Amino acid sequence: MELNITCIPGDGIGPEIVAEAKKVLDAVAAKYGHTMNYTDILMGGASIDVHGVPLTEEAIATAKSADAVLMGSIGGDTTTSPWYKLAPNLRPEAGLLALRKALNLFANLRPALLYEELADACPLKKEISAAGFDMMIMRELTGGLYFGERKTVEENGVLKATDTLTYDENEIRRIAIKGFDIAMKRKKKVTSVDKANVLDSSRLWRKVVEEVAKDYPEVSLEHMLVDNCAMQLVKDPAQFDVILTENMFGDILSDEASMVTGSIGMLASASLNDTKFGLYEPSHGSAPDIAGKDIANPIATVLSASMMLRYSFDLDKEADAIDNAVKQVLKEGYRTGDIMSEGCTQVGCKQMGDLLAQRV
Ligand code: NAD
Repeated sequence: MELNITCIPGDGIGPEIVAEAKKVLDAVAAKYGHTMNYTDILMGGASIDVHGVPLTEEAIATAKSADAVLMGSIGGDTTTSPWYKLAPNLRPEAGLLALRKALNLFANLRPALLYEELADACPLKKEISAAGFDMMIMRELTGGLYFGERKTVEENGVLKATDTLTYDENEIRRIAIKGFDIAMKRKKKVTSVDKANVLDSSRLWRKVVEEVAKDYPEVSLEHMLVDNCAMQLVKDPAQFDVILTENMFGDILSDEASMVTGSIGMLASASLNDTKFGLYEPSHGSAPDIAGKDIANPIATVLSASMMLRYSFDLDKEADAIDNAVKQVLKEGYRTGDIMSEGCTQVGCKQMGDLLAQRV
């Protein structure tokens, strides 16, 4: 198969971790007989330095013409970098927002998986973490409270602010379909999270999710109120497979779920539209404090590349090969500095990439 991938190395550790993800993808290509065509584009600070803007129209066109986009990370030190003296629409992050909009990415996927070997980093009690967990948070990304009408007015000398939470049934249906599709590739369970005891938007959410569920008889569906879900994530995370939820609830729950894994350098993410296209990137930022030192953990980016193979190209076997290579390397005791523990062998970013590529 020929895979056309736009790569965005970006800023900080971005170029280092993307180089290692490419190394691992190349190993997959060699083993399974695929061809990877990479085209790099500039985004964030790297684009500002060359073009004066965080993303050019040409770069957007290149990304649109690819099958998928693999990104490192963008941005610099927000207190010292000259990029943050620019107007907000010219700063590095504006490039990412513009790209998400141009590509119509409405579904955000964030896995939270506890690796047995890294269980010590999990802040939960041992009796809870012992059961392990492997969940996927599917968050709606372009609707709800963050995109509704908002205003601040003064009435009789008192300031009053209003935000509105609106979803139409089509917005709910398309993300629900994505959630059930992803569940079909996993343990076939969807937990739809809402606040249907209070909010109309949640009652519509629940109704549409139930309609979509009828097309997926193999997937079991449960509904959970968001406040209960926040508790269950720390009480019994093993119960979850796919958590399907709206924008603000997903924003909060996905951060909570990543915290319980305890390892930021291990967390991948994906943003999808209604085709097979996706933007894949680690959950962490550009870590300017460790850039250029060959000490960054490339695993979150490598796992993002695995998600790309699974969700944009339906190459499940190849994605499994990457996921298993990560497990194997951890089992053999290799660690980058951020996940280092006693008795393990510390390696740099490049060496971690080599080890992973060899084990594919
Ligand atoms: P960060 O995630 O970059 O770093 C937080 C801490 O985690 C730092 O100590 C860093 O060294 C460490 N860290 C992060 N990734 C690591 C890795 N792969 N291996 C080892 N250690 C790692 O968050 P921050 O410092 O708040 O942000 C830095 C910059 O990144 C800012 O400009 C921010 O806007 C940007 N950012 C970009 C994205 C993105 O591109 N999607 C996301 C978040 C933050």
